[in-house]
Amino acid sequence: MTKRVFNFYAGPATLPLPALERAQKELLNFAGTGMSILEISHRSKEYDKVHNDATELVRELMEIPNEYKVLWLQGGASTQFFMAPVNLQMPGRPMQYVDTGTWSSKALKEARLYGDVEVVASSKDDNYSYVPRGVTFSENAAFAHITSNNTIYGTQWQEWPDVPDSVPLVCDMSSDLLARRIKVKDFGVIYAGAQKNLGPAGVTLVVVREDLIDRVPDDVPTLMKWKTEVEKNSLFHTPPCFAIYICKLALEYWKEFGGITKIEKQNQEKAKILYDVIDSSDSFYRGYARPDSRSLMNVTFTMESSDLEAKAVAEGIERDLVGLKGHRSVGGMRASIYNAMPLEGVKKLSSFLTEFKEKNQ
Ligand SMILES: *Cc1c(COP(=O)(O)O)cnc(C)c1O
Repeated sequence: MTKRVFNFYAGPATLPLPALERAQKELLNFAGTGMSILEISHRSKEYDKVHNDATELVRELMEIPNEYKVLWLQGGASTQFFMAPVNLQMPGRPMQYVDTGTWSSKALKEARLYGDVEVVASSKDDNYSYVPRGVTFSENAAFAHITSNNTIYGTQWQEWPDVPDSVPLVCDMSSDLLARRIKVKDFGVIYAGAQKNLGPAGVTLVVVREDLIDRVPDDVPTLMKWKTEVEKNSLFHTPPCFAIYICKLALEYWKEFGGITKIEKQNQEKAKILYDVIDSSDSFYRGYARPDSRSLMNVTFTMESSDLEAKAVAEGIERDLVGLKGHRSVGGMRASIYNAMPLEGVKKLSSFLTEFKEKNQ
């Protein structure tokens, strides 16, 4: 067996091992074609099945209603930062954003290129260590935008803000897609770069309510319109076939695992293990996110000194616990425990942290 470590990187991130093994097994001869999935036409019947299966699996696992369309696009979540305003802007109506950190700041910066942006709430005053409460949006907003999980700071929306019925809620779900049960109907648009919780880098999932694809002005370039790919089932041009294929394998794994109910339960269990270590450490480990905003996906914490943090990161690596260094804008440590991080990996990290505290406090 090839040696594998527990990978706590924030993204690209760990994938379900059975999905990788399956890809390895069929890499040279896909579905009896004598060719690799990397080599066959995106118009072939073999690829077509992969493409449609991936879409069906996402629809099933996320319980996506019929009036929503599923798109597989390129350019990462960052491309959706401008695609949302391009497709949803309405002259004279503000685009309203909640600023919960780097990714939402980048998103609203793009929107400013297209019209009036209002930041209705922000947690910048405390370096994004929490998600604002009691946020409201106005009736005349073109759309409302939030980032459901703030990968860098380890914060996550615990309940969705109140949004007027007439205003579509647009959500960047890059780092907690499929991590918990959501009602897709609460949103107008959901988008997510695949490389955190869904699959590999190179493909972005967009779920868009059908009535929202017609707002886009005519003079927008073809590929900047969601409508173009909705009408062509994301096959207007060559899609990122291999990335979609890996997503499909991962989704098959999650379906067999027990779907969203089981995934959510395991995520809660994993996060609780690590937050318990932090909370019972007499401030040896200091949780970065405010407890009422804690993420199930990215557990962020600091220690007394950066030397001690560096020591923990190095000793973790010796035990095959990799990717624990925090993001530079927060410092400290970050354990990203996306869906595909096994419970076993979290237990091993928890034992290591407990032992490290005993030796170094
Ligand atoms: C990683 C991340 C992004 C950036 O995704 P790209 O696909 O690299 O553009 C955007 N938003 C969130 C919440 C992220 O975690």
